[in-house]
Amino acid sequence: MENEHVNSTQPAQRLPVVAIDGPAGAGKSTLAAHLARRFGLLNLESGAMYRALALKAIESDVSFSDEAALTALFATTSIELQPQSEGNRVLLDGHDVTRRVRERDVAEAASQVSVHPQVRAWMVAQQRALGAKGGVVMEGRDIGTKVFPNAEVKIFLDAAPEVRGQRRFLQTGPAQAAVTEESVIAALRERDARDRTRATSPLEAAADAILIDSTHMSFDEVMARSEEVVRQRLELSNAQR
Ligand code: C5P
Repeated sequence: MENEHVNSTQPAQRLPVVAIDGPAGAGKSTLAAHLARRFGLLNLESGAMYRALALKAIESDVSFSDEAALTALFATTSIELQPQSEGNRVLLDGHDVTRRVRERDVAEAASQVSVHPQVRAWMVAQQRALGAKGGVVMEGRDIGTKVFPNAEVKIFLDAAPEVRGQRRFLQTGPAQAAVTEESVIAALRERDARDRTRATSPLEAAADAILIDSTHMSFDEVMARSEEVVRQRLELSNAQR
């Protein structure tokens, strides 16, 4: 009884939220997966949710510019993220679309459907629900600014467009003969420009985010620096409790 009484008056220890934002190809997914393993958190890729809705639009023949038609899809769309040790398994209406949503046409479509305020509102509500209990690393474009403005840790991961394009090309491009490094860089630039200039929740660093520019860093250095940031921020937020 004594213990029950003590427990009921102690505020439950809130698990932290780590928000990672930045442009395409900066290495957010790899970093998020690493930090999730390191700190025992769930790794959630918000971009995969936009990609899944974009795939639904492709399959339903809905125009990416038609906000009303995209909004009408919500009622019949379920998107589930299943965190794995490397990235997320993505289910759209119960079907595994993990590989399909990584393809270029879906990335391009995701960047177009994500400009619409009602699409963003629907996504943000679901993302907040996923992280409501804390204990997550969520990566995307607006996690520190909009989805979790009170996140304990905010990292903005950036790199020069040429470096991001080259890394992305080495990851995926050479397997497809028609894909050149220049075309990958051009597509990234186009997606970035759309993400940074849209009216609703454009890609930008939160005022209290720690900026990590990985242009001249190895990935090991990025991980070490990020771990240090997470430790420092968590110590600070525990001290403030
Ligand atoms: O991160 P990823 O490349 O998978 O995201 C695909 C697209 O989804 C981005 O280009 C961006 O337009 C959109 N997105 C977004 N907000 C997020 C995550 C992704 O607008 N939080």
